[in-house]
Amino acid sequence: AVSDTSVSVAPEVLQFLSQPRPMLINGQWVQAASSKHFPVYNPATGEVMAQVAEGDKEDINRAVQAARHAFDSGPWHTTMSPSMRGRLMTRLADLIEQHAEEFAQLESLDNGKPLTIARVADIPLAADLFRYMAGWATKIEGNTIPLSLANQNQYFTYTQREPIGVVGQIIPWNFPLLMAAWKLGPALAAGCTIILKPAEQTPLSALRLGELILEAGFPEGVVNIVPGYGETAGAALAAHPDVDKVAFTGSTEVGKLIVQASAGNLKKVSLELGGKSPNIVFKDMDLQTAIAGAANAIFFNHGQCCSAGSRLYVEKPVFDQVVEGVAEQAKKITLGSGFNPATRMGPLVSDEQLARVTGYLQSGIEQGAKPLSGGGRFGDQGYFVEPTVLVNARQDMKVVQEEIFGPVVVAQSFQDPEEILPVAHDTIYGLAAGIWTRDIGKAHRLAASLRAGTVWINCYNVFDAALPFGGYRQSGWGREMGHEVLKNYTEVKSVCIGL
Ligand code: NAD
Repeated sequence: AVSDTSVSVAPEVLQFLSQPRPMLINGQWVQAASSKHFPVYNPATGEVMAQVAEGDKEDINRAVQAARHAFDSGPWHTTMSPSMRGRLMTRLADLIEQHAEEFAQLESLDNGKPLTIARVADIPLAADLFRYMAGWATKIEGNTIPLSLANQNQYFTYTQREPIGVVGQIIPWNFPLLMAAWKLGPALAAGCTIILKPAEQTPLSALRLGELILEAGFPEGVVNIVPGYGETAGAALAAHPDVDKVAFTGSTEVGKLIVQASAGNLKKVSLELGGKSPNIVFKDMDLQTAIAGAANAIFFNHGQCCSAGSRLYVEKPVFDQVVEGVAEQAKKITLGSGFNPATRMGPLVSDEQLARVTGYLQSGIEQGAKPLSGGGRFGDQGYFVEPTVLVNARQDMKVVQEEIFGPVVVAQSFQDPEEILPVAHDTIYGLAAGIWTRDIGKAHRLAASLRAGTVWINCYNVFDAALPFGGYRQSGWGREMGHEVLKNYTEVKSVCIGL
């Protein structure tokens, strides 16, 4: 049931939700081998709104076989030029744009995010990712390399970049369509074939995307989409001996399981994992800008961003003003169904996340942290949590060390700019960091010293298909986006010719 909505749900979306959704294997929409389905919930109400085929090991086997065949001997491999690959991807981007409202509605219903945000962020970014990566399909090059010890007349040597092969991709629920695009785009540009497993909480937009992938004209078996649970479908994909590479986005905990599962055939692995990113405000900054930026850093997507600026460090003399400003902003955020145009923050994605985030709040408050805003669940229907600013925190508290993945920021002050670096580094993560200052020298020095994959200066949560994103330390392996990501999906071959 889809209720509590102010914008009416589009007829094509209702139609899509009304039938149990099958999975995509070898260009066909098929039921699970077990014939099982699993429920998909509307997080604003907690009610079941769709049923989806539940993929398991046997379905993964079928999908890998299809992807293997498409890679080894299908038209994708034998006759399709890089230019044609790019053209199909551009067509897919156009189709996403043509169905933008439908995707925005599916995403809002499934994940809980405001429709207004899905319209301006998730959907256009996903379309742009395919368009950007389409351009790379024709630009994947090797080098000619003179040998260092041999006379150039003796050998001619070059490298070429080849698609890595059959790729398993496991994605999370925080940006369901966009995460599918981040994964599929570069793998398709490189010429790989794919088995995509969407998150069990949010499989709908990926399944709709599968329909457009067929409409765009991708040959059968190039993209297979198998929804299902992590411990079954996901684990089978990560362990499959015929998969050449697995790309994963999700928790650091599961990232480690993926690495273990991959060891069987030593498939290549890339990981985009958790974060606990420091956001550092200096007293010289224009404070209104810093306050708005710090609020956006944590509250965007309800804090369900791996890059969330969840640790706010503010220079002592302006600490009270900044944290009170962020708390004021938090109090002004309207919570509600993603379909209500007034909503600025929707529900968390699931009852599990609700329990997890409120559990962290409880633990922080018990250990002495004080909420300046929020502090608990909002309402008693759906999975809403109040946007929360915690002060009086200590570095050793769980709320300071662990990824909460909800609208909760922990704010602490610092005296000496020189002391902030060790504090910023005092977690297992290294995904992102924010710096707010007008001192350009200080900004660049700190950016150079931070062990983080992305440093935002006087901005936060800026993502672009052209800009690499990924983690140092336990935030991951490899980079998404930009041309860097192509390394995840290619093997380098050296060819040496005796002359
Ligand atoms: P998760 O890591 O369990 O799930 C992410 C994906 O991995 C899903 O598709 C899931 O089905 C799959 N998966 C789960 N167990 C698996 C296994 N054993 N083998 C293979 N695949 C498996 O994340 P979650 O439980 O949904 O969320 C828990 C926490 O993870 C969050 O609170 C947050 O801290 C973190 N998280 C991070 C990101 C991110 O973007 N970095 C995204 C989602 C969640």
